[in-house]
Amino acid sequence: MSSEVYLSVVIPAYNEEENVPILYERLKVVLEKLDKDYEIVFVDDGSKDSTWERLKEIAQRDKRVKLIRLRKNYGQTAAMYAGFQHAKGEVIITMDADLQNDPEDIPRLMEKLQEGYDIVSGWRKDRKDPFLSRKLPSMVANWIISKATGVELHDYGCTLKAYRSDIIKRLELYGDMHRFLPALTKRLGARITEIPVKHHPRIYGKSKYGIGRTVRVILDIFLVKFLNEYLNKPMYVFGTVGFFLLSLGLLALFYLIFIKLFLDESIGRRPLLILSVLFILAGIQLISTGILAELLVRIYYRTKEEKPFIVEEKINL
Ligand code: UDP
Ligand code: MG
Repeated sequence: MSSEVYLSVVIPAYNEEENVPILYERLKVVLEKLDKDYEIVFVDDGSKDSTWERLKEIAQRDKRVKLIRLRKNYGQTAAMYAGFQHAKGEVIITMDADLQNDPEDIPRLMEKLQEGYDIVSGWRKDRKDPFLSRKLPSMVANWIISKATGVELHDYGCTLKAYRSDIIKRLELYGDMHRFLPALTKRLGARITEIPVKHHPRIYGKSKYGIGRTVRVILDIFLVKFLNEYLNKPMYVFGTVGFFLLSLGLLALFYLIFIKLFLDESIGRRPLLILSVLFILAGIQLISTGILAELLVRIYYRTKEEKPFIVEEKINL
């Protein structure tokens, strides 16, 4: 076996003790058939059950299994990010640890990637999750994300995706941003496509998310839109609105001054006065925010060392 790893499979796992041994066996069957050098990177996201012990047993037998254990439960995004940082493959495939994604889909994702794409996204066409709490919010979210970012995919939430690692390693991930990986790479000019993949109901363990993630997803959409389109020019976002308000405010104020001085009307009790002051203040605030954002963006591009997680332990790395 040469030391060049071609494929890294990155798997975030949080309290998945029953699932990881089965997943490993199934993955191995598929990966052995691929005839490429591979590694499986499991990231234990601070599990409280015996996930880490199960993983260690596997890693002892198989040196191609690499383990990272995060110090606490940082969330799926941080876990995947940690996995990306340590993955050595040219191609990175991400999948859930809960057996809902099917390793059998990996060869097809890779074939599609070979056609010249940077990202191939899995699409759980026949998704085995509850309709009201899962599938419906997801359909709406996917539609909005597609329209807002211009990267049209049916299933942003599917973890099973294949990436060229040079693209994915450029990203810094915070919050719940793993869901937006394809949209975030748009800025880098990534070629993105999708193929239908299989999906299974969860048998062991519990889902880590509830309906509460909807609000976070909506807020993230704004953020992604901003990052994609205005990260290089935040002044335009804040400045445009600020300029508009400031102009309106000043106009109203000049009008009031005019009628006060030349028509000798009292302006003290007019709502327009309050409105114009409000607009002027808001406008100045927004323009200043734009300037601050410009400064921050410059700093952002310079300091890219810090990571939003601490690795507690590593095996075979
Ligand atoms: N996960 C994680 N950290 C978390 C939450 C989830 O590493 O804080 C992992 C989890 O173990 C699973 C994947 O992320 O492998 C997807 O989670 P889940 O199956 O709960 O999401 P769902 O399929 O219900 O959307
Ligand atoms: Mg799941």
